[in-house]
Amino acid sequence: MNRHARSRTTVYAAGALALLAAVTGCTSGGDSGAASAALVPASGSPASGSPAMAAPSPSRSGGPSPTASPTGGPAAGDAAAWAKWHLTPLPPAPPAPADKPVKLARTGPVPVFSEVKTSDKVVFVTIDDGAEKDPKFVEMLTDLKVPVSMFLTRDIVKDDYGYFKRLQALGNHIHNHTVDHAQMSKVPPEKQKSEICDAQAPLTQQYGTPPLLFRPPYGDGANTPALNTAVQQCGPRAIVLWRESMQIHDMQYQAADKKLRAGDIVLAHFRGPKDLKGETMTQMFGELLARIQEQGFAVARLEDYIEAPAA
Ligand SMILES: [Zn+2]
Repeated sequence: MNRHARSRTTVYAAGALALLAAVTGCTSGGDSGAASAALVPASGSPASGSPAMAAPSPSRSGGPSPTASPTGGPAAGDAAAWAKWHLTPLPPAPPAPADKPVKLARTGPVPVFSEVKTSDKVVFVTIDDGAEKDPKFVEMLTDLKVPVSMFLTRDIVKDDYGYFKRLQALGNHIHNHTVDHAQMSKVPPEKQKSEICDAQAPLTQQYGTPPLLFRPPYGDGANTPALNTAVQQCGPRAIVLWRESMQIHDMQYQAADKKLRAGDIVLAHFRGPKDLKGETMTQMFGELLARIQEQGFAVARLEDYIEAPAA
């Protein structure tokens, strides 16, 4: 009950963007998912009522029909692949821009951003933590070829690094989301550093390339000098936040008009039925794609819009 009160207080507190980000951010315990879900406004279902919408109902199984399973990987934009997941295809993403809107420097303070400056009608999907390791989700991304960027928490993924290698093999990148999901502004600078560096090393070893980006749990502390310094010491070259946060059926928007904008970064989580009121990861992700499709956006690869520092 006080969970709900807390959520409402946070939503309506003036200038509480950071707190809002905190509440809508990643789960650190069993209650956060429910708290976030409580933030979904009653009017949050899409107003457009697009006839193209084909999101599965909550009661429907998220899995594909076995008889519809193709023998080979369908091509991008393959309507049959989308139909298998009860979805309307998204528009194809435009080619990656040659001149990257985000250019990262090799040294010095790292930028903090929650959107990318672009006129392309694209959004970027990021998925955090790593708790749910649903094989069906690998199948879904294999079929749909929707790019995602993963911000992984070491202690949440270390029991099965291999799961995320399967997603990486689809072309998706792995980024740093701390050792154990600490709330960074609540811990001293040295601990902030170890939270990042002690995740950076194993993620680099496991996935073969150093994470380029860092996301603090809950978005907390993103704009503090202490966190910026710690990130610089450990290797990532930017701090990435988000504009929308996917709940179960809809996104929570920071924009008052509850609309996606070109270049928005969307936050989702590796979550399963325990945190999604019985829905599966693929059902949640299908709903996310439906919300994006209804608004006419493509999903582009975040890293295609970022120029990494010269080696
Ligand atoms: Zn998180």
